[in-house]
Amino acid sequence: MQRFEHYDWPFFEERHRRLASEADAWIRANAVDEEEPDSTCRALVRKLGAARLLDHCVSAAPDVRSIALLREVFAYHHGLADFAFAMQGLGSGPIVLAGTEAQKKAWLPKAARGEAIAAFALSEPEAGSDVAASSSVARKENGVWRITGTKTWISNGGIADFYVTFARTDEGLSAFIVEAPEADASERIDLIAPHPMSTVKFRDARGELLGEAGQGFKLAMRNLDVFRTTVAGAALGFARRALDEALARAKDRRMFGGRLADLQITQAKLADMATGIESAALLTYKSAWKKDTTELRTTRDSAMAKMQATETAQSVVDAAVQIFGGLGVTRGQMVERLYREVRALRIYEGATEVQKVVIARQLLR
Ligand SMILES: Cc1cc2nc3c(=O)[nH]c(=O)nc-3n(C[C@H](O)[C@H](O)[C@H](O)COP(=O)(O)OP(=O)(O)OC[C@H]3O[C@@H](n4cnc5c(N)ncnc54)[C@H](O)[C@@H]3O)c2cc1C
Repeated sequence: MQRFEHYDWPFFEERHRRLASEADAWIRANAVDEEEPDSTCRALVRKLGAARLLDHCVSAAPDVRSIALLREVFAYHHGLADFAFAMQGLGSGPIVLAGTEAQKKAWLPKAARGEAIAAFALSEPEAGSDVAASSSVARKENGVWRITGTKTWISNGGIADFYVTFARTDEGLSAFIVEAPEADASERIDLIAPHPMSTVKFRDARGELLGEAGQGFKLAMRNLDVFRTTVAGAALGFARRALDEALARAKDRRMFGGRLADLQITQAKLADMATGIESAALLTYKSAWKKDTTELRTTRDSAMAKMQATETAQSVVDAAVQIFGGLGVTRGQMVERLYREVRALRIYEGATEVQKVVIARQLLR
């Protein structure tokens, strides 16, 4: 069902089109059990590694177009596949950006092969949008860094092999790598679209400083700057799937002596959905292309892409549920799953309001 017309856009090269087709074939051939998120994610990470697909997000020179395209393809089929893929990149990104040679050697090959599961632990119960309010602390004892604090909403919490986390030192917020046995990730969080997630507690946890002390905030933001545009890619995948489902249903459903698709109000909905997706995709792939091919800053572009694509995906999925009628709110329907899946995208990696602040700040500079 998936259409590839937009892959002809000038933002892409032949390798991107090939990659998207390969990933589409790969995900179709690999079943995803949505009921068992932890074991499914572990298996998916291993399989994505074996297929060398994780090389695209665990990379010394990440190509944002490739990551965004892969996320779009995976999200079209399975939210968990997108999640497993993206988290390996988000969790290992700070090591790519600031790790020593020894830290890179210790974690990146394993993360790329799917042999070590990564997590990015920044948010805290009292510091979500307001990252600067973080209260975790790190102190050096006999040459060893010890971290104490609580991180929450941690994707891959409980199944991760290592956490890149952030804690306050004398110099400011600093980044650390903490191995899983040092973290207590037993407090699980159940989401409306189940993913492996927990609150992670560090109590005098042994960690390795990542990058320079005091540079943690900048490092976290540089990492998000790469991955924010790719959240937009995932949103596009969910939205395209919702549109395809809605088109099929509108053509099949008989009513008032014809088809649901024959009614002009339905046609207007479909037109709005398709136009919204196209606009969001243009912003997304323009942002990715700019990051990949220029030295220019993409803070504003990635914020616009993330905001527009996630907000559009929400309204497209909602319209698809409406087109399905009662069936749309029935457990097990694809549009019902998309409805649960897409909601968190407007909150994580900077809520829509935070993206607006970022965009306005850039405009007013
Ligand atoms: C599914 C999911 C996965 C996640 N994965 C991770 C992860 O792997 N690692 C990690 O560290 N964190 C993760 N998070 C946490 C996520 O980044 C935070 O939820 C997010 O930053 C918002 O923080 P908060 O939940 O504390 O909400 P709050 O900070 O309390 O914000 C609440 C709301 O306030 C509004 N708001 C925010 N700023 C402004 C403003 N300037 N003006 C007006 N309104 C504003 C927004 O609507 C926001 O949703 C995840 C969250 C979810 C839901």
